[in-house]
Order: sequence, then structure tokens, then C-alpha cells
Amino acid sequence: MTTLVWFRADLRLADNPALSYAVEHSETVIPVFIWDAEAERDVSQRDAVSGAHLVWLYHALQSLDADLRQKGSRLILRRGDMLDQLNKLVQELGANAVVWNARVVPGFRHRDQDVADALRGDGVAVHTFDGRLLHDPNQIQTGSGGPYRVFTPFWRKFCKQIEVDAPLGTPRMGTTKAPASWPDSDDIATWGFTAHTQDGTDWASGLREGWAMSEAGAHERLDAFIEDALLDYEDDRNRPDRVGSSMLSPYLHHGHLSPRQVWHRVDGWVQNDAMREAADAYLREIVWREFSYHVLHHYPDTPAEPLKDKYAAFPWEEDAEGLHRWQHGQTGFPIVDAGMRQLWATGWMHNRVRMIVASFLTKDLLIPWQDGAAWFWDTLVDADLANNTMGWQWAAGCGADAQPFFRIFNPISQGERYDPHGAYVKHWIPELAGLPKKYIHAPWNAPHGVLQNAGVELGVDYPLPIVDHSEARQRALDALDAMKQAA
Ligand code: FAD
Repeated sequence: MTTLVWFRADLRLADNPALSYAVEHSETVIPVFIWDAEAERDVSQRDAVSGAHLVWLYHALQSLDADLRQKGSRLILRRGDMLDQLNKLVQELGANAVVWNARVVPGFRHRDQDVADALRGDGVAVHTFDGRLLHDPNQIQTGSGGPYRVFTPFWRKFCKQIEVDAPLGTPRMGTTKAPASWPDSDDIATWGFTAHTQDGTDWASGLREGWAMSEAGAHERLDAFIEDALLDYEDDRNRPDRVGSSMLSPYLHHGHLSPRQVWHRVDGWVQNDAMREAADAYLREIVWREFSYHVLHHYPDTPAEPLKDKYAAFPWEEDAEGLHRWQHGQTGFPIVDAGMRQLWATGWMHNRVRMIVASFLTKDLLIPWQDGAAWFWDTLVDADLANNTMGWQWAAGCGADAQPFFRIFNPISQGERYDPHGAYVKHWIPELAGLPKKYIHAPWNAPHGVLQNAGVELGVDYPLPIVDHSEARQRALDALDAMKQAA
């Protein structure tokens, strides 16, 4: 029996149900990854695949191959239509079965079904598994049998209803034997996944330096988080000036780690009430990820359309310059610019700052949330259709949230509250490093002498604010009224 294991967003050996099944039931196991750019674009409802995602994949696939080689196996890479490529491999190898873990994203459901039907039609056995989430998005329903649109009741139901199974170990691949000859594998260097701009600049050096893009890297990160930060998670998770959150999002997104591995590691760490409280605060965030997938599953158009229909008529503005300045950390609001620069340099941004920059784009600049989501999509190493869509719609006020639109973050007070010493701003905007903390979140309020001492000339070394926040806030509320009147 020869089985193809089709790796997808599950780039790991441990707790990989499809791989474990294949190893248990087959003589020969062939791991394969197929890059189907067209399907990726269609499913994400975006024109392009995330650049940062590709950089990550470039390294992650090589590390998965290295992990498999240590076990006497290897990863076969192919590019093109996923069914065509699977068919070719089945024929080349005389394979009897294809197995995979489902990607859960709605656009892949029917595609996967088509692939499974076609393979079965040719007499090939197909087995699919879950592993990306802790729940099946159809499993949790409101009292009236519909999907949830607000997190807290979803969370309560989740806690009541879902038992998180123990994760599987790493399969002992020594029990399988290699094929007579391994099929050809593409050279990933020819896939164009490495990062450079038109002028040849390598924009991804910060991504490579900041992240170990591998299964081992995921476990190192989880260990470090549990040891150093989990106990203080509830207090520190909102502090971008501290390493207070786990930074596991890209690992969960690419599947170097499964949510149930995280769940059981965190749960198993608890030894007293304080630890229980910290663990619960963290696991609640893991359930936010479940909720994002739940909403995307039931509302598959939300990557492009607002969940709350009436927001389709919101009078967003076209502002190419505003968008450009926001993207490049040049708005003149330090907490916003620091976040956008962190994103560009590392492919990641702190959650609190994601909320601040998203509120700024959609409320202060009135730029459509879809434009912000598209930029995040391109630049985040954790660019995830479910979480990104949820985050942006939440911030824009048109998504799965009980809060109304008029929650408009004040970028100055948010900065003062969550980056009280200005350390985060000073790190990402070194040109402001000499400013006293009193003015770090609103440099335009600093007296001339203070700016001079800090070596800052506003409008030259660092931009003047692109808007007046109070006026922008009023403009956003007026736009909301206009939408309501038009309805
Ligand atoms: P931790 O606080 O350590 O949380 C652990 C895990 O829980 C995260 O890795 C993530 O998988 C999950 N999680 C935490 N918060 C959320 C949340 N609000 N929604 C869904 N899942 C959550 N997250 C992504 O993974 N990909 C995205 O593309 C993405 N885009 C976002 C866009 C906006 C505008 C906003 C406001 C949030 C977005 N998020 C996204 C959610 C959140 O910001 C990140 O998951 C979090 O910052 C990742 O850091 P962490 O791993 O240290 O989180």
C-alpha cells in the first residue's frame, strides 16, 4: 500500500492526523506539498498571495523536508493545479491512497470535495482529517440553531461543549519503506518565493532574522512563552513594549503547531489558581481563533463584504496618499507609525497595535477596511483569512462585534496607556528616541525647546500629524450618520 500525504497548512510531523494515519496503514508513505497559486488567490478572494506568507513558506518547506529526511523520508514539491498534480503522482507511484488534513477555509471545502471525488472515481482511497481547529465550525450553534456573531456567548458554548482531545505524537516513520525511487521534486528556488522589490532590495531580512520558520522553532517559542510570560499574560498581553504575548500566530497559521498541542501544553502547566487564571486568559484567545473560523465558515463572503450589511453603504473615502503614509509609518501619530514599521520590519504586529492602526485607518482616515486588510495580507507572516477578516471587520465596526462603530480609538491615549514609557515607539521610531515620555505619543505638543533638545524638527525628521484626531473623530461620526440616513 502506497499513500500520498498531502501537506497543506499543517507543516509539522507531530499531531498530524493524516501523516499518522498514513504511517500506520501503509507500507510506503510519500509526503507531498503542492503550490496551486490560482486556488490560493481564488480562495483568499485577493488578487495576490501574501508576500510574507511566501517568504515563510520558502523556509518552512525546506525545514519540513529536512525533518522528514532525518526520518528517512523527504518532501516532494510540485506546482500547479492540485488535482492534476495529485493525479500525476498517483500514476507515477501507483499510489493506492491520498490523505490530508482539511484547511477549513470555505473556498477549499468544495475544491477539496472535488479532488476527493475525482480521486475516488479513479479508484484511489481518500481519507481526510481535522487538525487545524479545536472544533468543527458546524458543531457549535446558537439556541435557535444558527451561527454565532458575538464572541462571548460563543466562548461560553465552546467551554460547555468542546473537549479538546490529547494531541498525537510524532509517527515512527521507520516502520515504512522508501519507494523504489523517489519521484522528482521541484526546486523551490525556482518558485519565486524569495523577497525582493523591483530595485532588487531584499525586504525580508528582518523576517528571516526574527523567526525560526520551522516546527522546532514553534516549540521553542511555545516553551519560552510558557516559561517567561504566560503567568503575566493577562496583564502584559496589551503591552507592546513587553514580550507579553506568545507570538505563536505564524506557527499556528502555517500549522507548525496545532491548537490542541498548545491547549494541552498550557493546560498541563497549571499547578495553582494563579496559573489557572493565566492559562484561561490565554486559552480564551486561542478560542478567538476558533471564532474567526466559525464566522468565516458561516459567512464566506466576509473577506470582501461587511458582515453587517448596512455598512456596504458606508461613505468610505479614497485617499491614496493617506493609505501610503499609513502603510509606511508616516502618519505623524507615533503609536500608529511604530506599529506599521514593526509590521514592515518583522512581518508581525502586536495585537493592541493592530487594533489601533486599524481603527486609525478606518475611522481617522475613513479608508475602507478592505484596503487595510489587503496590506496586512501582503505583509503579515501570520496573514490568515479568518483572523485577518475578523480583526479588520471588528476594528471597522462592521463585523462580529457587539460594540458599535463609534468605538474610535484615540491613538494618543492608547499610546500613553499601553506604551507608558514610550519604549515601543522609541524602538521603532528612533528619530523620536530623544523625546521625553510626556510628549512621545504627541510630539506636536512638545515646546520648541524640547523638540530642539531631542534633535527633532517636525515635518522634517518626523511628520506632522496627518489629521487632527478630534476633527477626524467627528468626521467619522458624521459619516456614520450619513450612512444611517441613506439606509
Ligand atoms: P497571543 O495573544 O499569544 O494569542 C495566542 C493565539 O490566539 C494567537 O497566535 C492567535 O492564533 C490567537 N488569537 C489571539 N488574538 C486573536 C484574535 N483577536 N483573533 C483571532 N485569533 C486570535 N491574527 C492572525 O493570526 N492572523 C491575522 O492575519 C490577523 N490579522 C489581524 C488584523 C487585525 C486588524 C487585528 C485587530 C487582529 C488580527 N489578528 C490576526 C489577531 C491578533 O492580532 C493576532 O492573532 C495576535 O496579535 C498574534 O499574536 P500572538 O500569537 O502573540 O497572540
